[in-house]
Amino acid sequence: MEIVQQILFILLVGLTGRLVARRAGVISKTIRLGRDEDRTDQPERRLAMMLRIAFGQKKMFDKPLIGFLHLAVYLGFILINVEVLEIVIDGIFGTHRVFAPLFGKFYALLISFFEFLAVSVLVACVIFLIRRSIVKVPRLQPARHREMNGWPALDGKLILIFEIVLMIAILSMNAADSVLQARGHAHYPPTGNFLFSQFLKPLFVNINTGSLVVIERFAWWFHIIGIFMFAVYVTYSKHLHIILAFPNTYFAKLVPKGKMDNMPVITNEVRIMLGLEQPQEGAAVPDHFGAKDIQDLSWKNLMDAYSCTECGRCTAACPANITGKKLSPRKIMMDTRDRLEDVGRNMLANNGQFVEDGKQLIGDYILEEEILACTTCNACVQECPVLINPLDIILQLRKYKIMDEAKAPASWNAMFQNLDTNQAPWKFSPGDRLNWTQNLQS
Ligand code: SF4
Ligand code: SF4
Repeated sequence: MEIVQQILFILLVGLTGRLVARRAGVISKTIRLGRDEDRTDQPERRLAMMLRIAFGQKKMFDKPLIGFLHLAVYLGFILINVEVLEIVIDGIFGTHRVFAPLFGKFYALLISFFEFLAVSVLVACVIFLIRRSIVKVPRLQPARHREMNGWPALDGKLILIFEIVLMIAILSMNAADSVLQARGHAHYPPTGNFLFSQFLKPLFVNINTGSLVVIERFAWWFHIIGIFMFAVYVTYSKHLHIILAFPNTYFAKLVPKGKMDNMPVITNEVRIMLGLEQPQEGAAVPDHFGAKDIQDLSWKNLMDAYSCTECGRCTAACPANITGKKLSPRKIMMDTRDRLEDVGRNMLANNGQFVEDGKQLIGDYILEEEILACTTCNACVQECPVLINPLDIILQLRKYKIMDEAKAPASWNAMFQNLDTNQAPWKFSPGDRLNWTQNLQS
């Protein structure tokens, strides 16, 4: 019987590894569809930024209580993996609590620490669930934000329920294990009491040993299968940020937020017009300006899309959204990810090659009205806890609409005309700029 369980367990580990690796391959391939952009300068500064923002979760502590609860879930997620490692080793080799002899009397202390984390995760997840479902934090509500309708709202709740159930399984497993230890069952060597699960022991003390072994084994399998399912699920969910937040913050922009990138090809044209450069024979002419689809965005823009936590802090701070415009920076990131996912599925179905599907990011996913509503204020960039830059995508899509399709609003065209002729957005000659000073008293 034991050997059957071991074989089953090894098959499960293999299947989980294969599904996660396959999904990681698709994500990495779609991110690499983006154009090149060098983000490898100043490695020490980048490392410090990653440690501060992703590891230290600095921006989450703008709201201290939420920051603390989020940190509890995050630490629980990272550190409980040591216990998961023990479970995996036990599952493969048919042992039970293989780390117990290694840690000796500290083992009970270690498991008690994991139980403390499990209870912290449980409490934090219950509070987060209440915030989503009962308190109804405005930025998370589908009724207020159409991008949260359907799967995104469900995803946010599902993962919390998933974590609550997994934590209950750990505590039940440990409580049943402790009772079996006290009864001297050969498969459950004594390790001492664990901090929290001992309070659940009264639930199990009146159950006969055979049934209790079944309960303990059920909780053990339930917990580990849950972990494997979680590992696969995360790669399809907004919770991918628990991994991508690290590279995403490392490769974030180091230049000041207000600095916009010029388009080298346009700068070059202007320099040629002003006689500062000579036209070069055979110089490559771009197919189009700006970005119309994900292939025109940089790989970092695409990694941003996969890293988005859908928290909506950007949208809650966006003046365009607050004043009722159609723009939501969170939706910009979610739409970009949706397009990436569609392209990824297309590639999977076509031997790894993208086959033209007649769609593009601007128009089919993000509307012109949305990108034109942006004031370029950078509030979304400032608010994002994982240093995502929705504005960068908006500006590139806007460049495409205006420069390639000449689809600017009439008032903007008048401003462009004025810039061209008057070197200022206003409709008067540069020579008249100081007219207002003429009647001033000295
Ligand atoms: S930069 Fe644009 S999208 Fe971002 S907050 Fe400002 S107006 Fe909203
Ligand atoms: S872009 Fe950042 S702030 Fe906006 S929803 Fe995504 S993670 Fe949250």
